[in-house]
Amino acid sequence: METLRLYNSLTRKKDVFTTKEEGKCGMYTCGPTVYHFAHIGNLRSYIMEDVLEKYLRYYGYDVRRVMNITDVGHLSSDADEGEDKMVKGAKRENKTVMDIARFYTDAFFEDCAKLNIKRPDVVEPATNLIPEYIEMVQTLLDKGHAYIADGNVYFDTSTIDKYYVFNDHDEEDLAVGVRDGVEEDTNKKNKADFVLWFTKSKFEDQALKWDSPWGTGYPGWHIECSAISIKHLGEYCDLHCGGIDNAFPHHTNEIAQSEAYLGHEWCRQWFHVLHLNDETGKMSKSKGEFLTVSLLESKGYNPIVYRFFCLQSHYRKTLVFSFDALDNAVQAYDKLIARIATLDPEDGAVDEAAMDELRVKFNRSMCNDLNTAMAITALYDVLKAKINGATKLALIEEFDTVLSLDLIKAAGELRKKEAEKYADENPEVLALVEERTAAKKAKDYARADEIRDILKEKGITLKDTPAGVEIIHE
Ligand code: AMP
Ligand code: ZN
Repeated sequence: METLRLYNSLTRKKDVFTTKEEGKCGMYTCGPTVYHFAHIGNLRSYIMEDVLEKYLRYYGYDVRRVMNITDVGHLSSDADEGEDKMVKGAKRENKTVMDIARFYTDAFFEDCAKLNIKRPDVVEPATNLIPEYIEMVQTLLDKGHAYIADGNVYFDTSTIDKYYVFNDHDEEDLAVGVRDGVEEDTNKKNKADFVLWFTKSKFEDQALKWDSPWGTGYPGWHIECSAISIKHLGEYCDLHCGGIDNAFPHHTNEIAQSEAYLGHEWCRQWFHVLHLNDETGKMSKSKGEFLTVSLLESKGYNPIVYRFFCLQSHYRKTLVFSFDALDNAVQAYDKLIARIATLDPEDGAVDEAAMDELRVKFNRSMCNDLNTAMAITALYDVLKAKINGATKLALIEEFDTVLSLDLIKAAGELRKKEAEKYADENPEVLALVEERTAAKKAKDYARADEIRDILKEKGITLKDTPAGVEIIHE
């Protein structure tokens, strides 16, 4: 098997993928903040992480994937300022924070299902593990990595030597808290320090609060991912994923607090998906009408075509969304399905040697930092190859366990639709059409032409399309 290499944001190069325990992979994914629907940008990240997970399984890893649901503590700035996103969502809809969380968590997994994104093995809402956060914060205080200032508990970034792992900026650029219109938090000893536990919230209406040794309050945003990962994957996480905006400060802070807490290296491999932007720039949930899976559906798009659109690009390149680009993906997808629909599973026996040969490009592409676009071209190679239909279908089905593009299912549906289209057709005509197809395949073009002429006399013309023969009555 090809060696699997993935770009690692931590080392800033493509690394050979390894795990702590051979054959097993503990994978952590930063889940959604459930204050609104996911936009298709968020879902780009989850599609690419889903392909990664499925490829790891295909490669032979026993994957355990864990995802949090941020239902508390994510302020509207990635630093520690701004309004709480959950409280904002609840106010907007005149509901409780927990109602909002439940509704948008369900909506998120419904969108995922439409995009063939598998549900992670463990899904943990942040509000489930408050005692674990308290234990972690207390340990960080005991070890001297945290301090209390004006009621809040802060992580002291000056106590560790490897803080700025995910950013290429210098310290001045990291002036966390000094963005326009935001007051700098004067409690912090160092600019990059971050809150582990809030008791002094600026928001009187903070909905969810819990007792803690430092007073009634709520956790900072970053602590949830460290605690949830450690609880479900143990002291070592093999692979941590998220969108690129999570790299700093969220993942940087996760590493800082996890390693300070554990006293050893925590996660070696970091996978970040670049953003999907719309033509005006950044995609955002705070803009009025934003792009959701439901919006695509309401415009008549099959959500799987959006998945196909994402897989046609590399996850480490920013992708620009437009409806024109999606229309191109629709055309390419429909053509692909039409070609698969013409394959006959009864055509020959599966040829294992041919499968081995045609698998090489697929694996080489996926092992080269998850090059899904190249892996899709391996699908076209299968279609073009001089092998029987049964072997082609077996390979397509196998690749689709990773790509999840409904290739076999959609081709089956198309075939059924085609069959229904000719349900009322004269059986004699259908028999002739079938005979002509067989004659063409056997290179008996004389007979094929003869049949075409017989039908022409009956006022019927035949049109060869990628999906098969179309019967047209004059
Ligand atoms: P959120 O719901 O804001 O916590 O984000 C959920 C996930 O989507 C995170 O992994 C983000 O990094 C990711 N994300 C946010 N915006 C985009 C975008 N425009 N394109 C791709 N991923 C994004
Ligand atoms: Zn996270």
